[in-house]
Amino acid sequence: MSNRPLPMPTEDTKPYWEGAKAGKLMIQKCTACGSLQFYPRTYCMGCLNESMTWVEASGNGTVYAFTINHRPANEYMKDKTPYAVAAIDLDEGVRMLANIVESDIMKVKCGAGVQVVFEKASEEITLPQFKLAG
Ligand SMILES: [Zn+2]
Repeated sequence: MSNRPLPMPTEDTKPYWEGAKAGKLMIQKCTACGSLQFYPRTYCMGCLNESMTWVEASGNGTVYAFTINHRPANEYMKDKTPYAVAAIDLDEGVRMLANIVESDIMKVKCGAGVQVVFEKASEEITLPQFKLAG
């Protein structure tokens, strides 16, 4: 049994986690105004409409900001230091927080291109993460 802290999907976030499990990065789209948003909410942040649908994002984005953690956030990350945590701006215009993996973290910089990768963390949870593009 892993000691890794993992998210617990809710009714609102289930499509996101099911998408990740299937290798798809899903974000919400408002059925009224077409706004895209992340993280998942029960209503649109643009027009307050309560009817949201889901669309697959390209998985491409850029690093908006990042930090290199030398102190692990929890027991599981203890032997993973140093690791990069980044705010990623997807090409679709939403921002998400993830680790930069499968990359030389010393090459992570603001504005760097990234693409999504999927890290299977358990039978139930696959985590969308990002790696430096190219
Ligand atoms: Zn809307």
